[in-house]
Amino acid sequence: MNINKFQIELLQWYELNHRQLPWRLNKDPYRILVSEIMLQQTRVETVIPYYERFMNWFPTVKDFAEAEEEKILKSWEGLGYYSRVRNLHSAIKEVSEFYEGKIPNTKEDISKLKGIGPYTAGAVLSIAYDKPEPAVDGNVMRVYSRIFKIQEDIAKPATRKIFEKKVHDTISNEDPSTFNQALMELGALICTPTSPKCLICPINDQCQAFIEGIQDQLPIKTKMKKGKTIHYVSVVVENENGELLIQKRASKGLLAGLWEFPNYEIKESETQISTQLILDFEEQYNGKLIDIKPIGTVKHKFSHLTWEVQVFSAQVLQNVKEGLWVSEKELATYTLPIPVQKMYELYVYHK
Ligand code: SF4
Repeated sequence: MNINKFQIELLQWYELNHRQLPWRLNKDPYRILVSEIMLQQTRVETVIPYYERFMNWFPTVKDFAEAEEEKILKSWEGLGYYSRVRNLHSAIKEVSEFYEGKIPNTKEDISKLKGIGPYTAGAVLSIAYDKPEPAVDGNVMRVYSRIFKIQEDIAKPATRKIFEKKVHDTISNEDPSTFNQALMELGALICTPTSPKCLICPINDQCQAFIEGIQDQLPIKTKMKKGKTIHYVSVVVENENGELLIQKRASKGLLAGLWEFPNYEIKESETQISTQLILDFEEQYNGKLIDIKPIGTVKHKFSHLTWEVQVFSAQVLQNVKEGLWVSEKELATYTLPIPVQKMYELYVYHK
């Protein structure tokens, strides 16, 4: 491999072919950091409108550091993996308090911030601060495993180090910012997980996998175990004023602090749902349900488990003391995770 030629061809390709994305307008480290956190486990097309709204709401470190939790969760509503925005908020508050509002520009300091792992640290240091640091994520591991025919299992955490070393040895010291972005862009547009576009790839003459015709066999990645399914019953309860009952989830764990309709975990085999529902509801909320109707099922996959929720609508006879009653207009101001939004859509459809 001629490293110099590889760098030049990759950088030239990027200059001519990269997409205009809102986080590429400038090298503001705060903007880069937010984009990298949003892009974790989320597609570029999905992120763009969220990112633009986020930057409208919180254009500076100070704006975001001082924002209320409800508003920061609302900014993330629908993106999932809410711990990302909570950690980002903690990190930015630290930046505001201890680093005079400037995202740290050393590996040691930036890595101390909450939620900043080696990939994000490398991405910010290289893209925003022009430091020759590797930023190795799944995309880069795929591209490098093919170019250099690296056959280690990328599902194993220890494998990342092998790729970090390889990027470290091959990164452009003159322009590490563009180099890392070019690798990411190549992975997104050309060296895709399935059917890589090798014939138009700028570095195909140096790619070991392409030369040997094994690009479809790399990277090596063992399959993750399938997560379990948890079954719930959830009920959209309406009172005589047309208000709906919502409750806040616990402050720790999955979807912490977000809002939902009352729900109960059930066993997969349970059948007498509506009877169980009435008993549970009456016990917990001290209110009587009438007109209970099944309105559908919502299935939602998280990274490690699946929810299967049987959804009911119901009226309540007397106003219950627990929980929060909101009009449908007010509901829009609360942060509802995607499965709860789907339950609400079922309710609206069956109204
Ligand atoms: S030649 Fe094919 S496999 Fe190799 S880097 Fe390019 S797109 Fe990926």
